[in-house]
Parts: sequence; structure tokens; C-alpha cells
Amino acid sequence: MAMTVIVVSAGGGQNTTTFNADILLAGDHVGEIRVPMSVTVEHEMQGWTSMPNNVHRHYRGCEHCDFIEENDCEYGQWLTHNDEHRRTCTICTGFDSHLIAWGTWSAWDTGNAVTHNRNRTCTVPGCTMTNEETGAHDENDIRAWTQGDDVNHSRARHCSVCSRFMSNELQAHTWPAFGNWTNLNATQHTRTRICTTVGCDRPQTETENHAWEWASDAVHHWQHCGTANNAAGTASRCGAEQNRAEHTWGAWSFNFTHHWQFCTHPNCTRSRTEDHNWGPWANQGDGTCRSVCVTNCGIPYRSYPHAMSGGVCVRCGAS
Ligand SMILES: [Zn+2]
Ligand SMILES: [Zn+2]
Ligand SMILES: [Zn+2]
Ligand SMILES: [Zn+2]
Ligand SMILES: [Zn+2]
Ligand SMILES: [Zn+2]
Ligand SMILES: [Zn+2]
Ligand SMILES: [Zn+2]
Repeated sequence: MAMTVIVVSAGGGQNTTTFNADILLAGDHVGEIRVPMSVTVEHEMQGWTSMPNNVHRHYRGCEHCDFIEENDCEYGQWLTHNDEHRRTCTICTGFDSHLIAWGTWSAWDTGNAVTHNRNRTCTVPGCTMTNEETGAHDENDIRAWTQGDDVNHSRARHCSVCSRFMSNELQAHTWPAFGNWTNLNATQHTRTRICTTVGCDRPQTETENHAWEWASDAVHHWQHCGTANNAAGTASRCGAEQNRAEHTWGAWSFNFTHHWQFCTHPNCTRSRTEDHNWGPWANQGDGTCRSVCVTNCGIPYRSYPHAMSGGVCVRCGAS
């Protein structure tokens, strides 16, 4: 016996389609017999189709009923396509695209030892595409000289684009001649010179012990650190002074015309010499007159016979 199913209607629910049908039995009997029946099966959905007008949605319908399912597109990664950015829905293959609209470049970063980098981002809302540029560092940003070490001053070279520190340039200090020594303390003097390279200004200082020399004038002896000029025309010593004192004169020595004495200080060579300071002539009552050195230098006196002239001694006035 053959059977034929005649679909009378089909209706869609959320997940299923319900068919209302008649089963037509045909056979030896005359006429036909219809038996109503109802079958419910899951929808059999067609492929997804992109919705027009860039609404970013797609839909699909059931093969059997009027059930329609609709959903947001699910896009993959943005890609560059000529002058556009484009992303494709992984479900319906419809795409979302716009003309590339780059924003402004970021500042250069300092990158790695060789290159610096900057980037920009597409300004279209929702677009995540970025664009990077890479360039080689230079060393054209040359900073001021700094003091460095005892031998060299140094200056940093930076990349003029990204400011990355690149290298340190070294150069020997440019020392001028030293100036005069100055008195530092009881035992030492010092002198300083400054590197003439602009920005460095590193000082270099020498210190040494005073070079004491004895000196004297008519009244005092003392020690000073010598002040003679050296070959460069500057004072070779600082001029400091110590141990200033008045001479300690020793015993007189004498000859017929002069008396003299030396300072007894072991390091002082000063002496002073004078003509005798003869006092007035005095009549000795024995035909002579005499005069003594009032400095009391050791000569007891000088004594001569009266030098009579017109009955009177011209030296002592005896008559
Ligand atoms: Zn889609
Ligand atoms: Zn974009
Ligand atoms: Zn750089
Ligand atoms: Zn220097
Ligand atoms: Zn000195
Ligand atoms: Zn003396
Ligand atoms: Zn004398
Ligand atoms: Zn006399």
C-alpha cells in the first residue's frame, strides 16, 4: 500500500518547525482516506546573509518555515586593503570598511641602540589599526662640556630626534699656566688653575710645603716663603712669614775707626757697623787729653798730647 503525505501548513517556533499534514492512503479501495497528522522538527537554517546599509548584522531563514534569525556580525582583525581599513565578519563574510584616517604621530621613543620609533592610530571610531615609523639615531645633539676626570672633560652626545644618550666624548683639559702660590696654612701654600674650556671649569690644585728663607732688615729678622719670580713671571712662593723678632745683638768688635756687632740668632747673618761715637775730649792733667767711644764698644779711649794753639788745646781747651 502506497502512502502520500500532503503538507497542509508549516509554522515556526523558536527552535522548531511544526508541519501539519494529511496522510493520504491510496490502494485498492475506491476514493481516498486522509489521516491528519502533525510533525515537529528542528529548523533547518539556510546560510547567513549580510544585512545591507552597514548595520553590522546578519540574518538567516529556515528552509521550511518563515522563521528568521538575526544577529550582530562578528568581525575578525582589521586589515589594510588599499586605502581602506577592512574587517570581515567571520559568520556572513560581509565586511566593515572605511578610508584610512591617520591621527598625528606620537613623539619619537628612544627605541633600541640603533633606531627610534613613533606611531599613529587611525582616528575612525572602533578602528584599532596603528602605523609605526622607524629611523636611525644620530649623535647631533651635543651637550655642554662637563668636568669629567683629572685628565679629560667630557660631553654627552644624544640623538637629535629622540634625545637618547648615545656616547660620551672625551677631550684633554686645556690647562693655563698656574698663577701665584697663596698661603694655605702654617706649613703649606697652594695654587689652583681652571680648565679654560667653556663649561668644564674643572679646577686643578697643587699644594706644597713652604720654602722658608731667612731675611732681615735693620731691626728684625724673620723667615718668609720666598717670593722670587719664576720663569713664567709669577711669584714662585707665597710670601708667608714666621718667626719675626728683633735682632739680638752680640758683643761689639772694633777697629780704630769703627765698631760692629752681629745678631746672635743662629740663622741671622745681620751685622751693624758704626763709626765710633767719640765723646768730648777731657784734659788728663798729664799733658794729654782723651775721648772715649760713648757706645762703650770696648776701646777704652783715644789719647793724644794737647794740640796747643795760641796757648790753648784745640781739642780739650786746656791752657
Ligand atoms: Zn555577519
Ligand atoms: Zn582605520
Ligand atoms: Zn634617536
Ligand atoms: Zn676641562
Ligand atoms: Zn709658602
Ligand atoms: Zn738678627
Ligand atoms: Zn766705638
Ligand atoms: Zn787737650
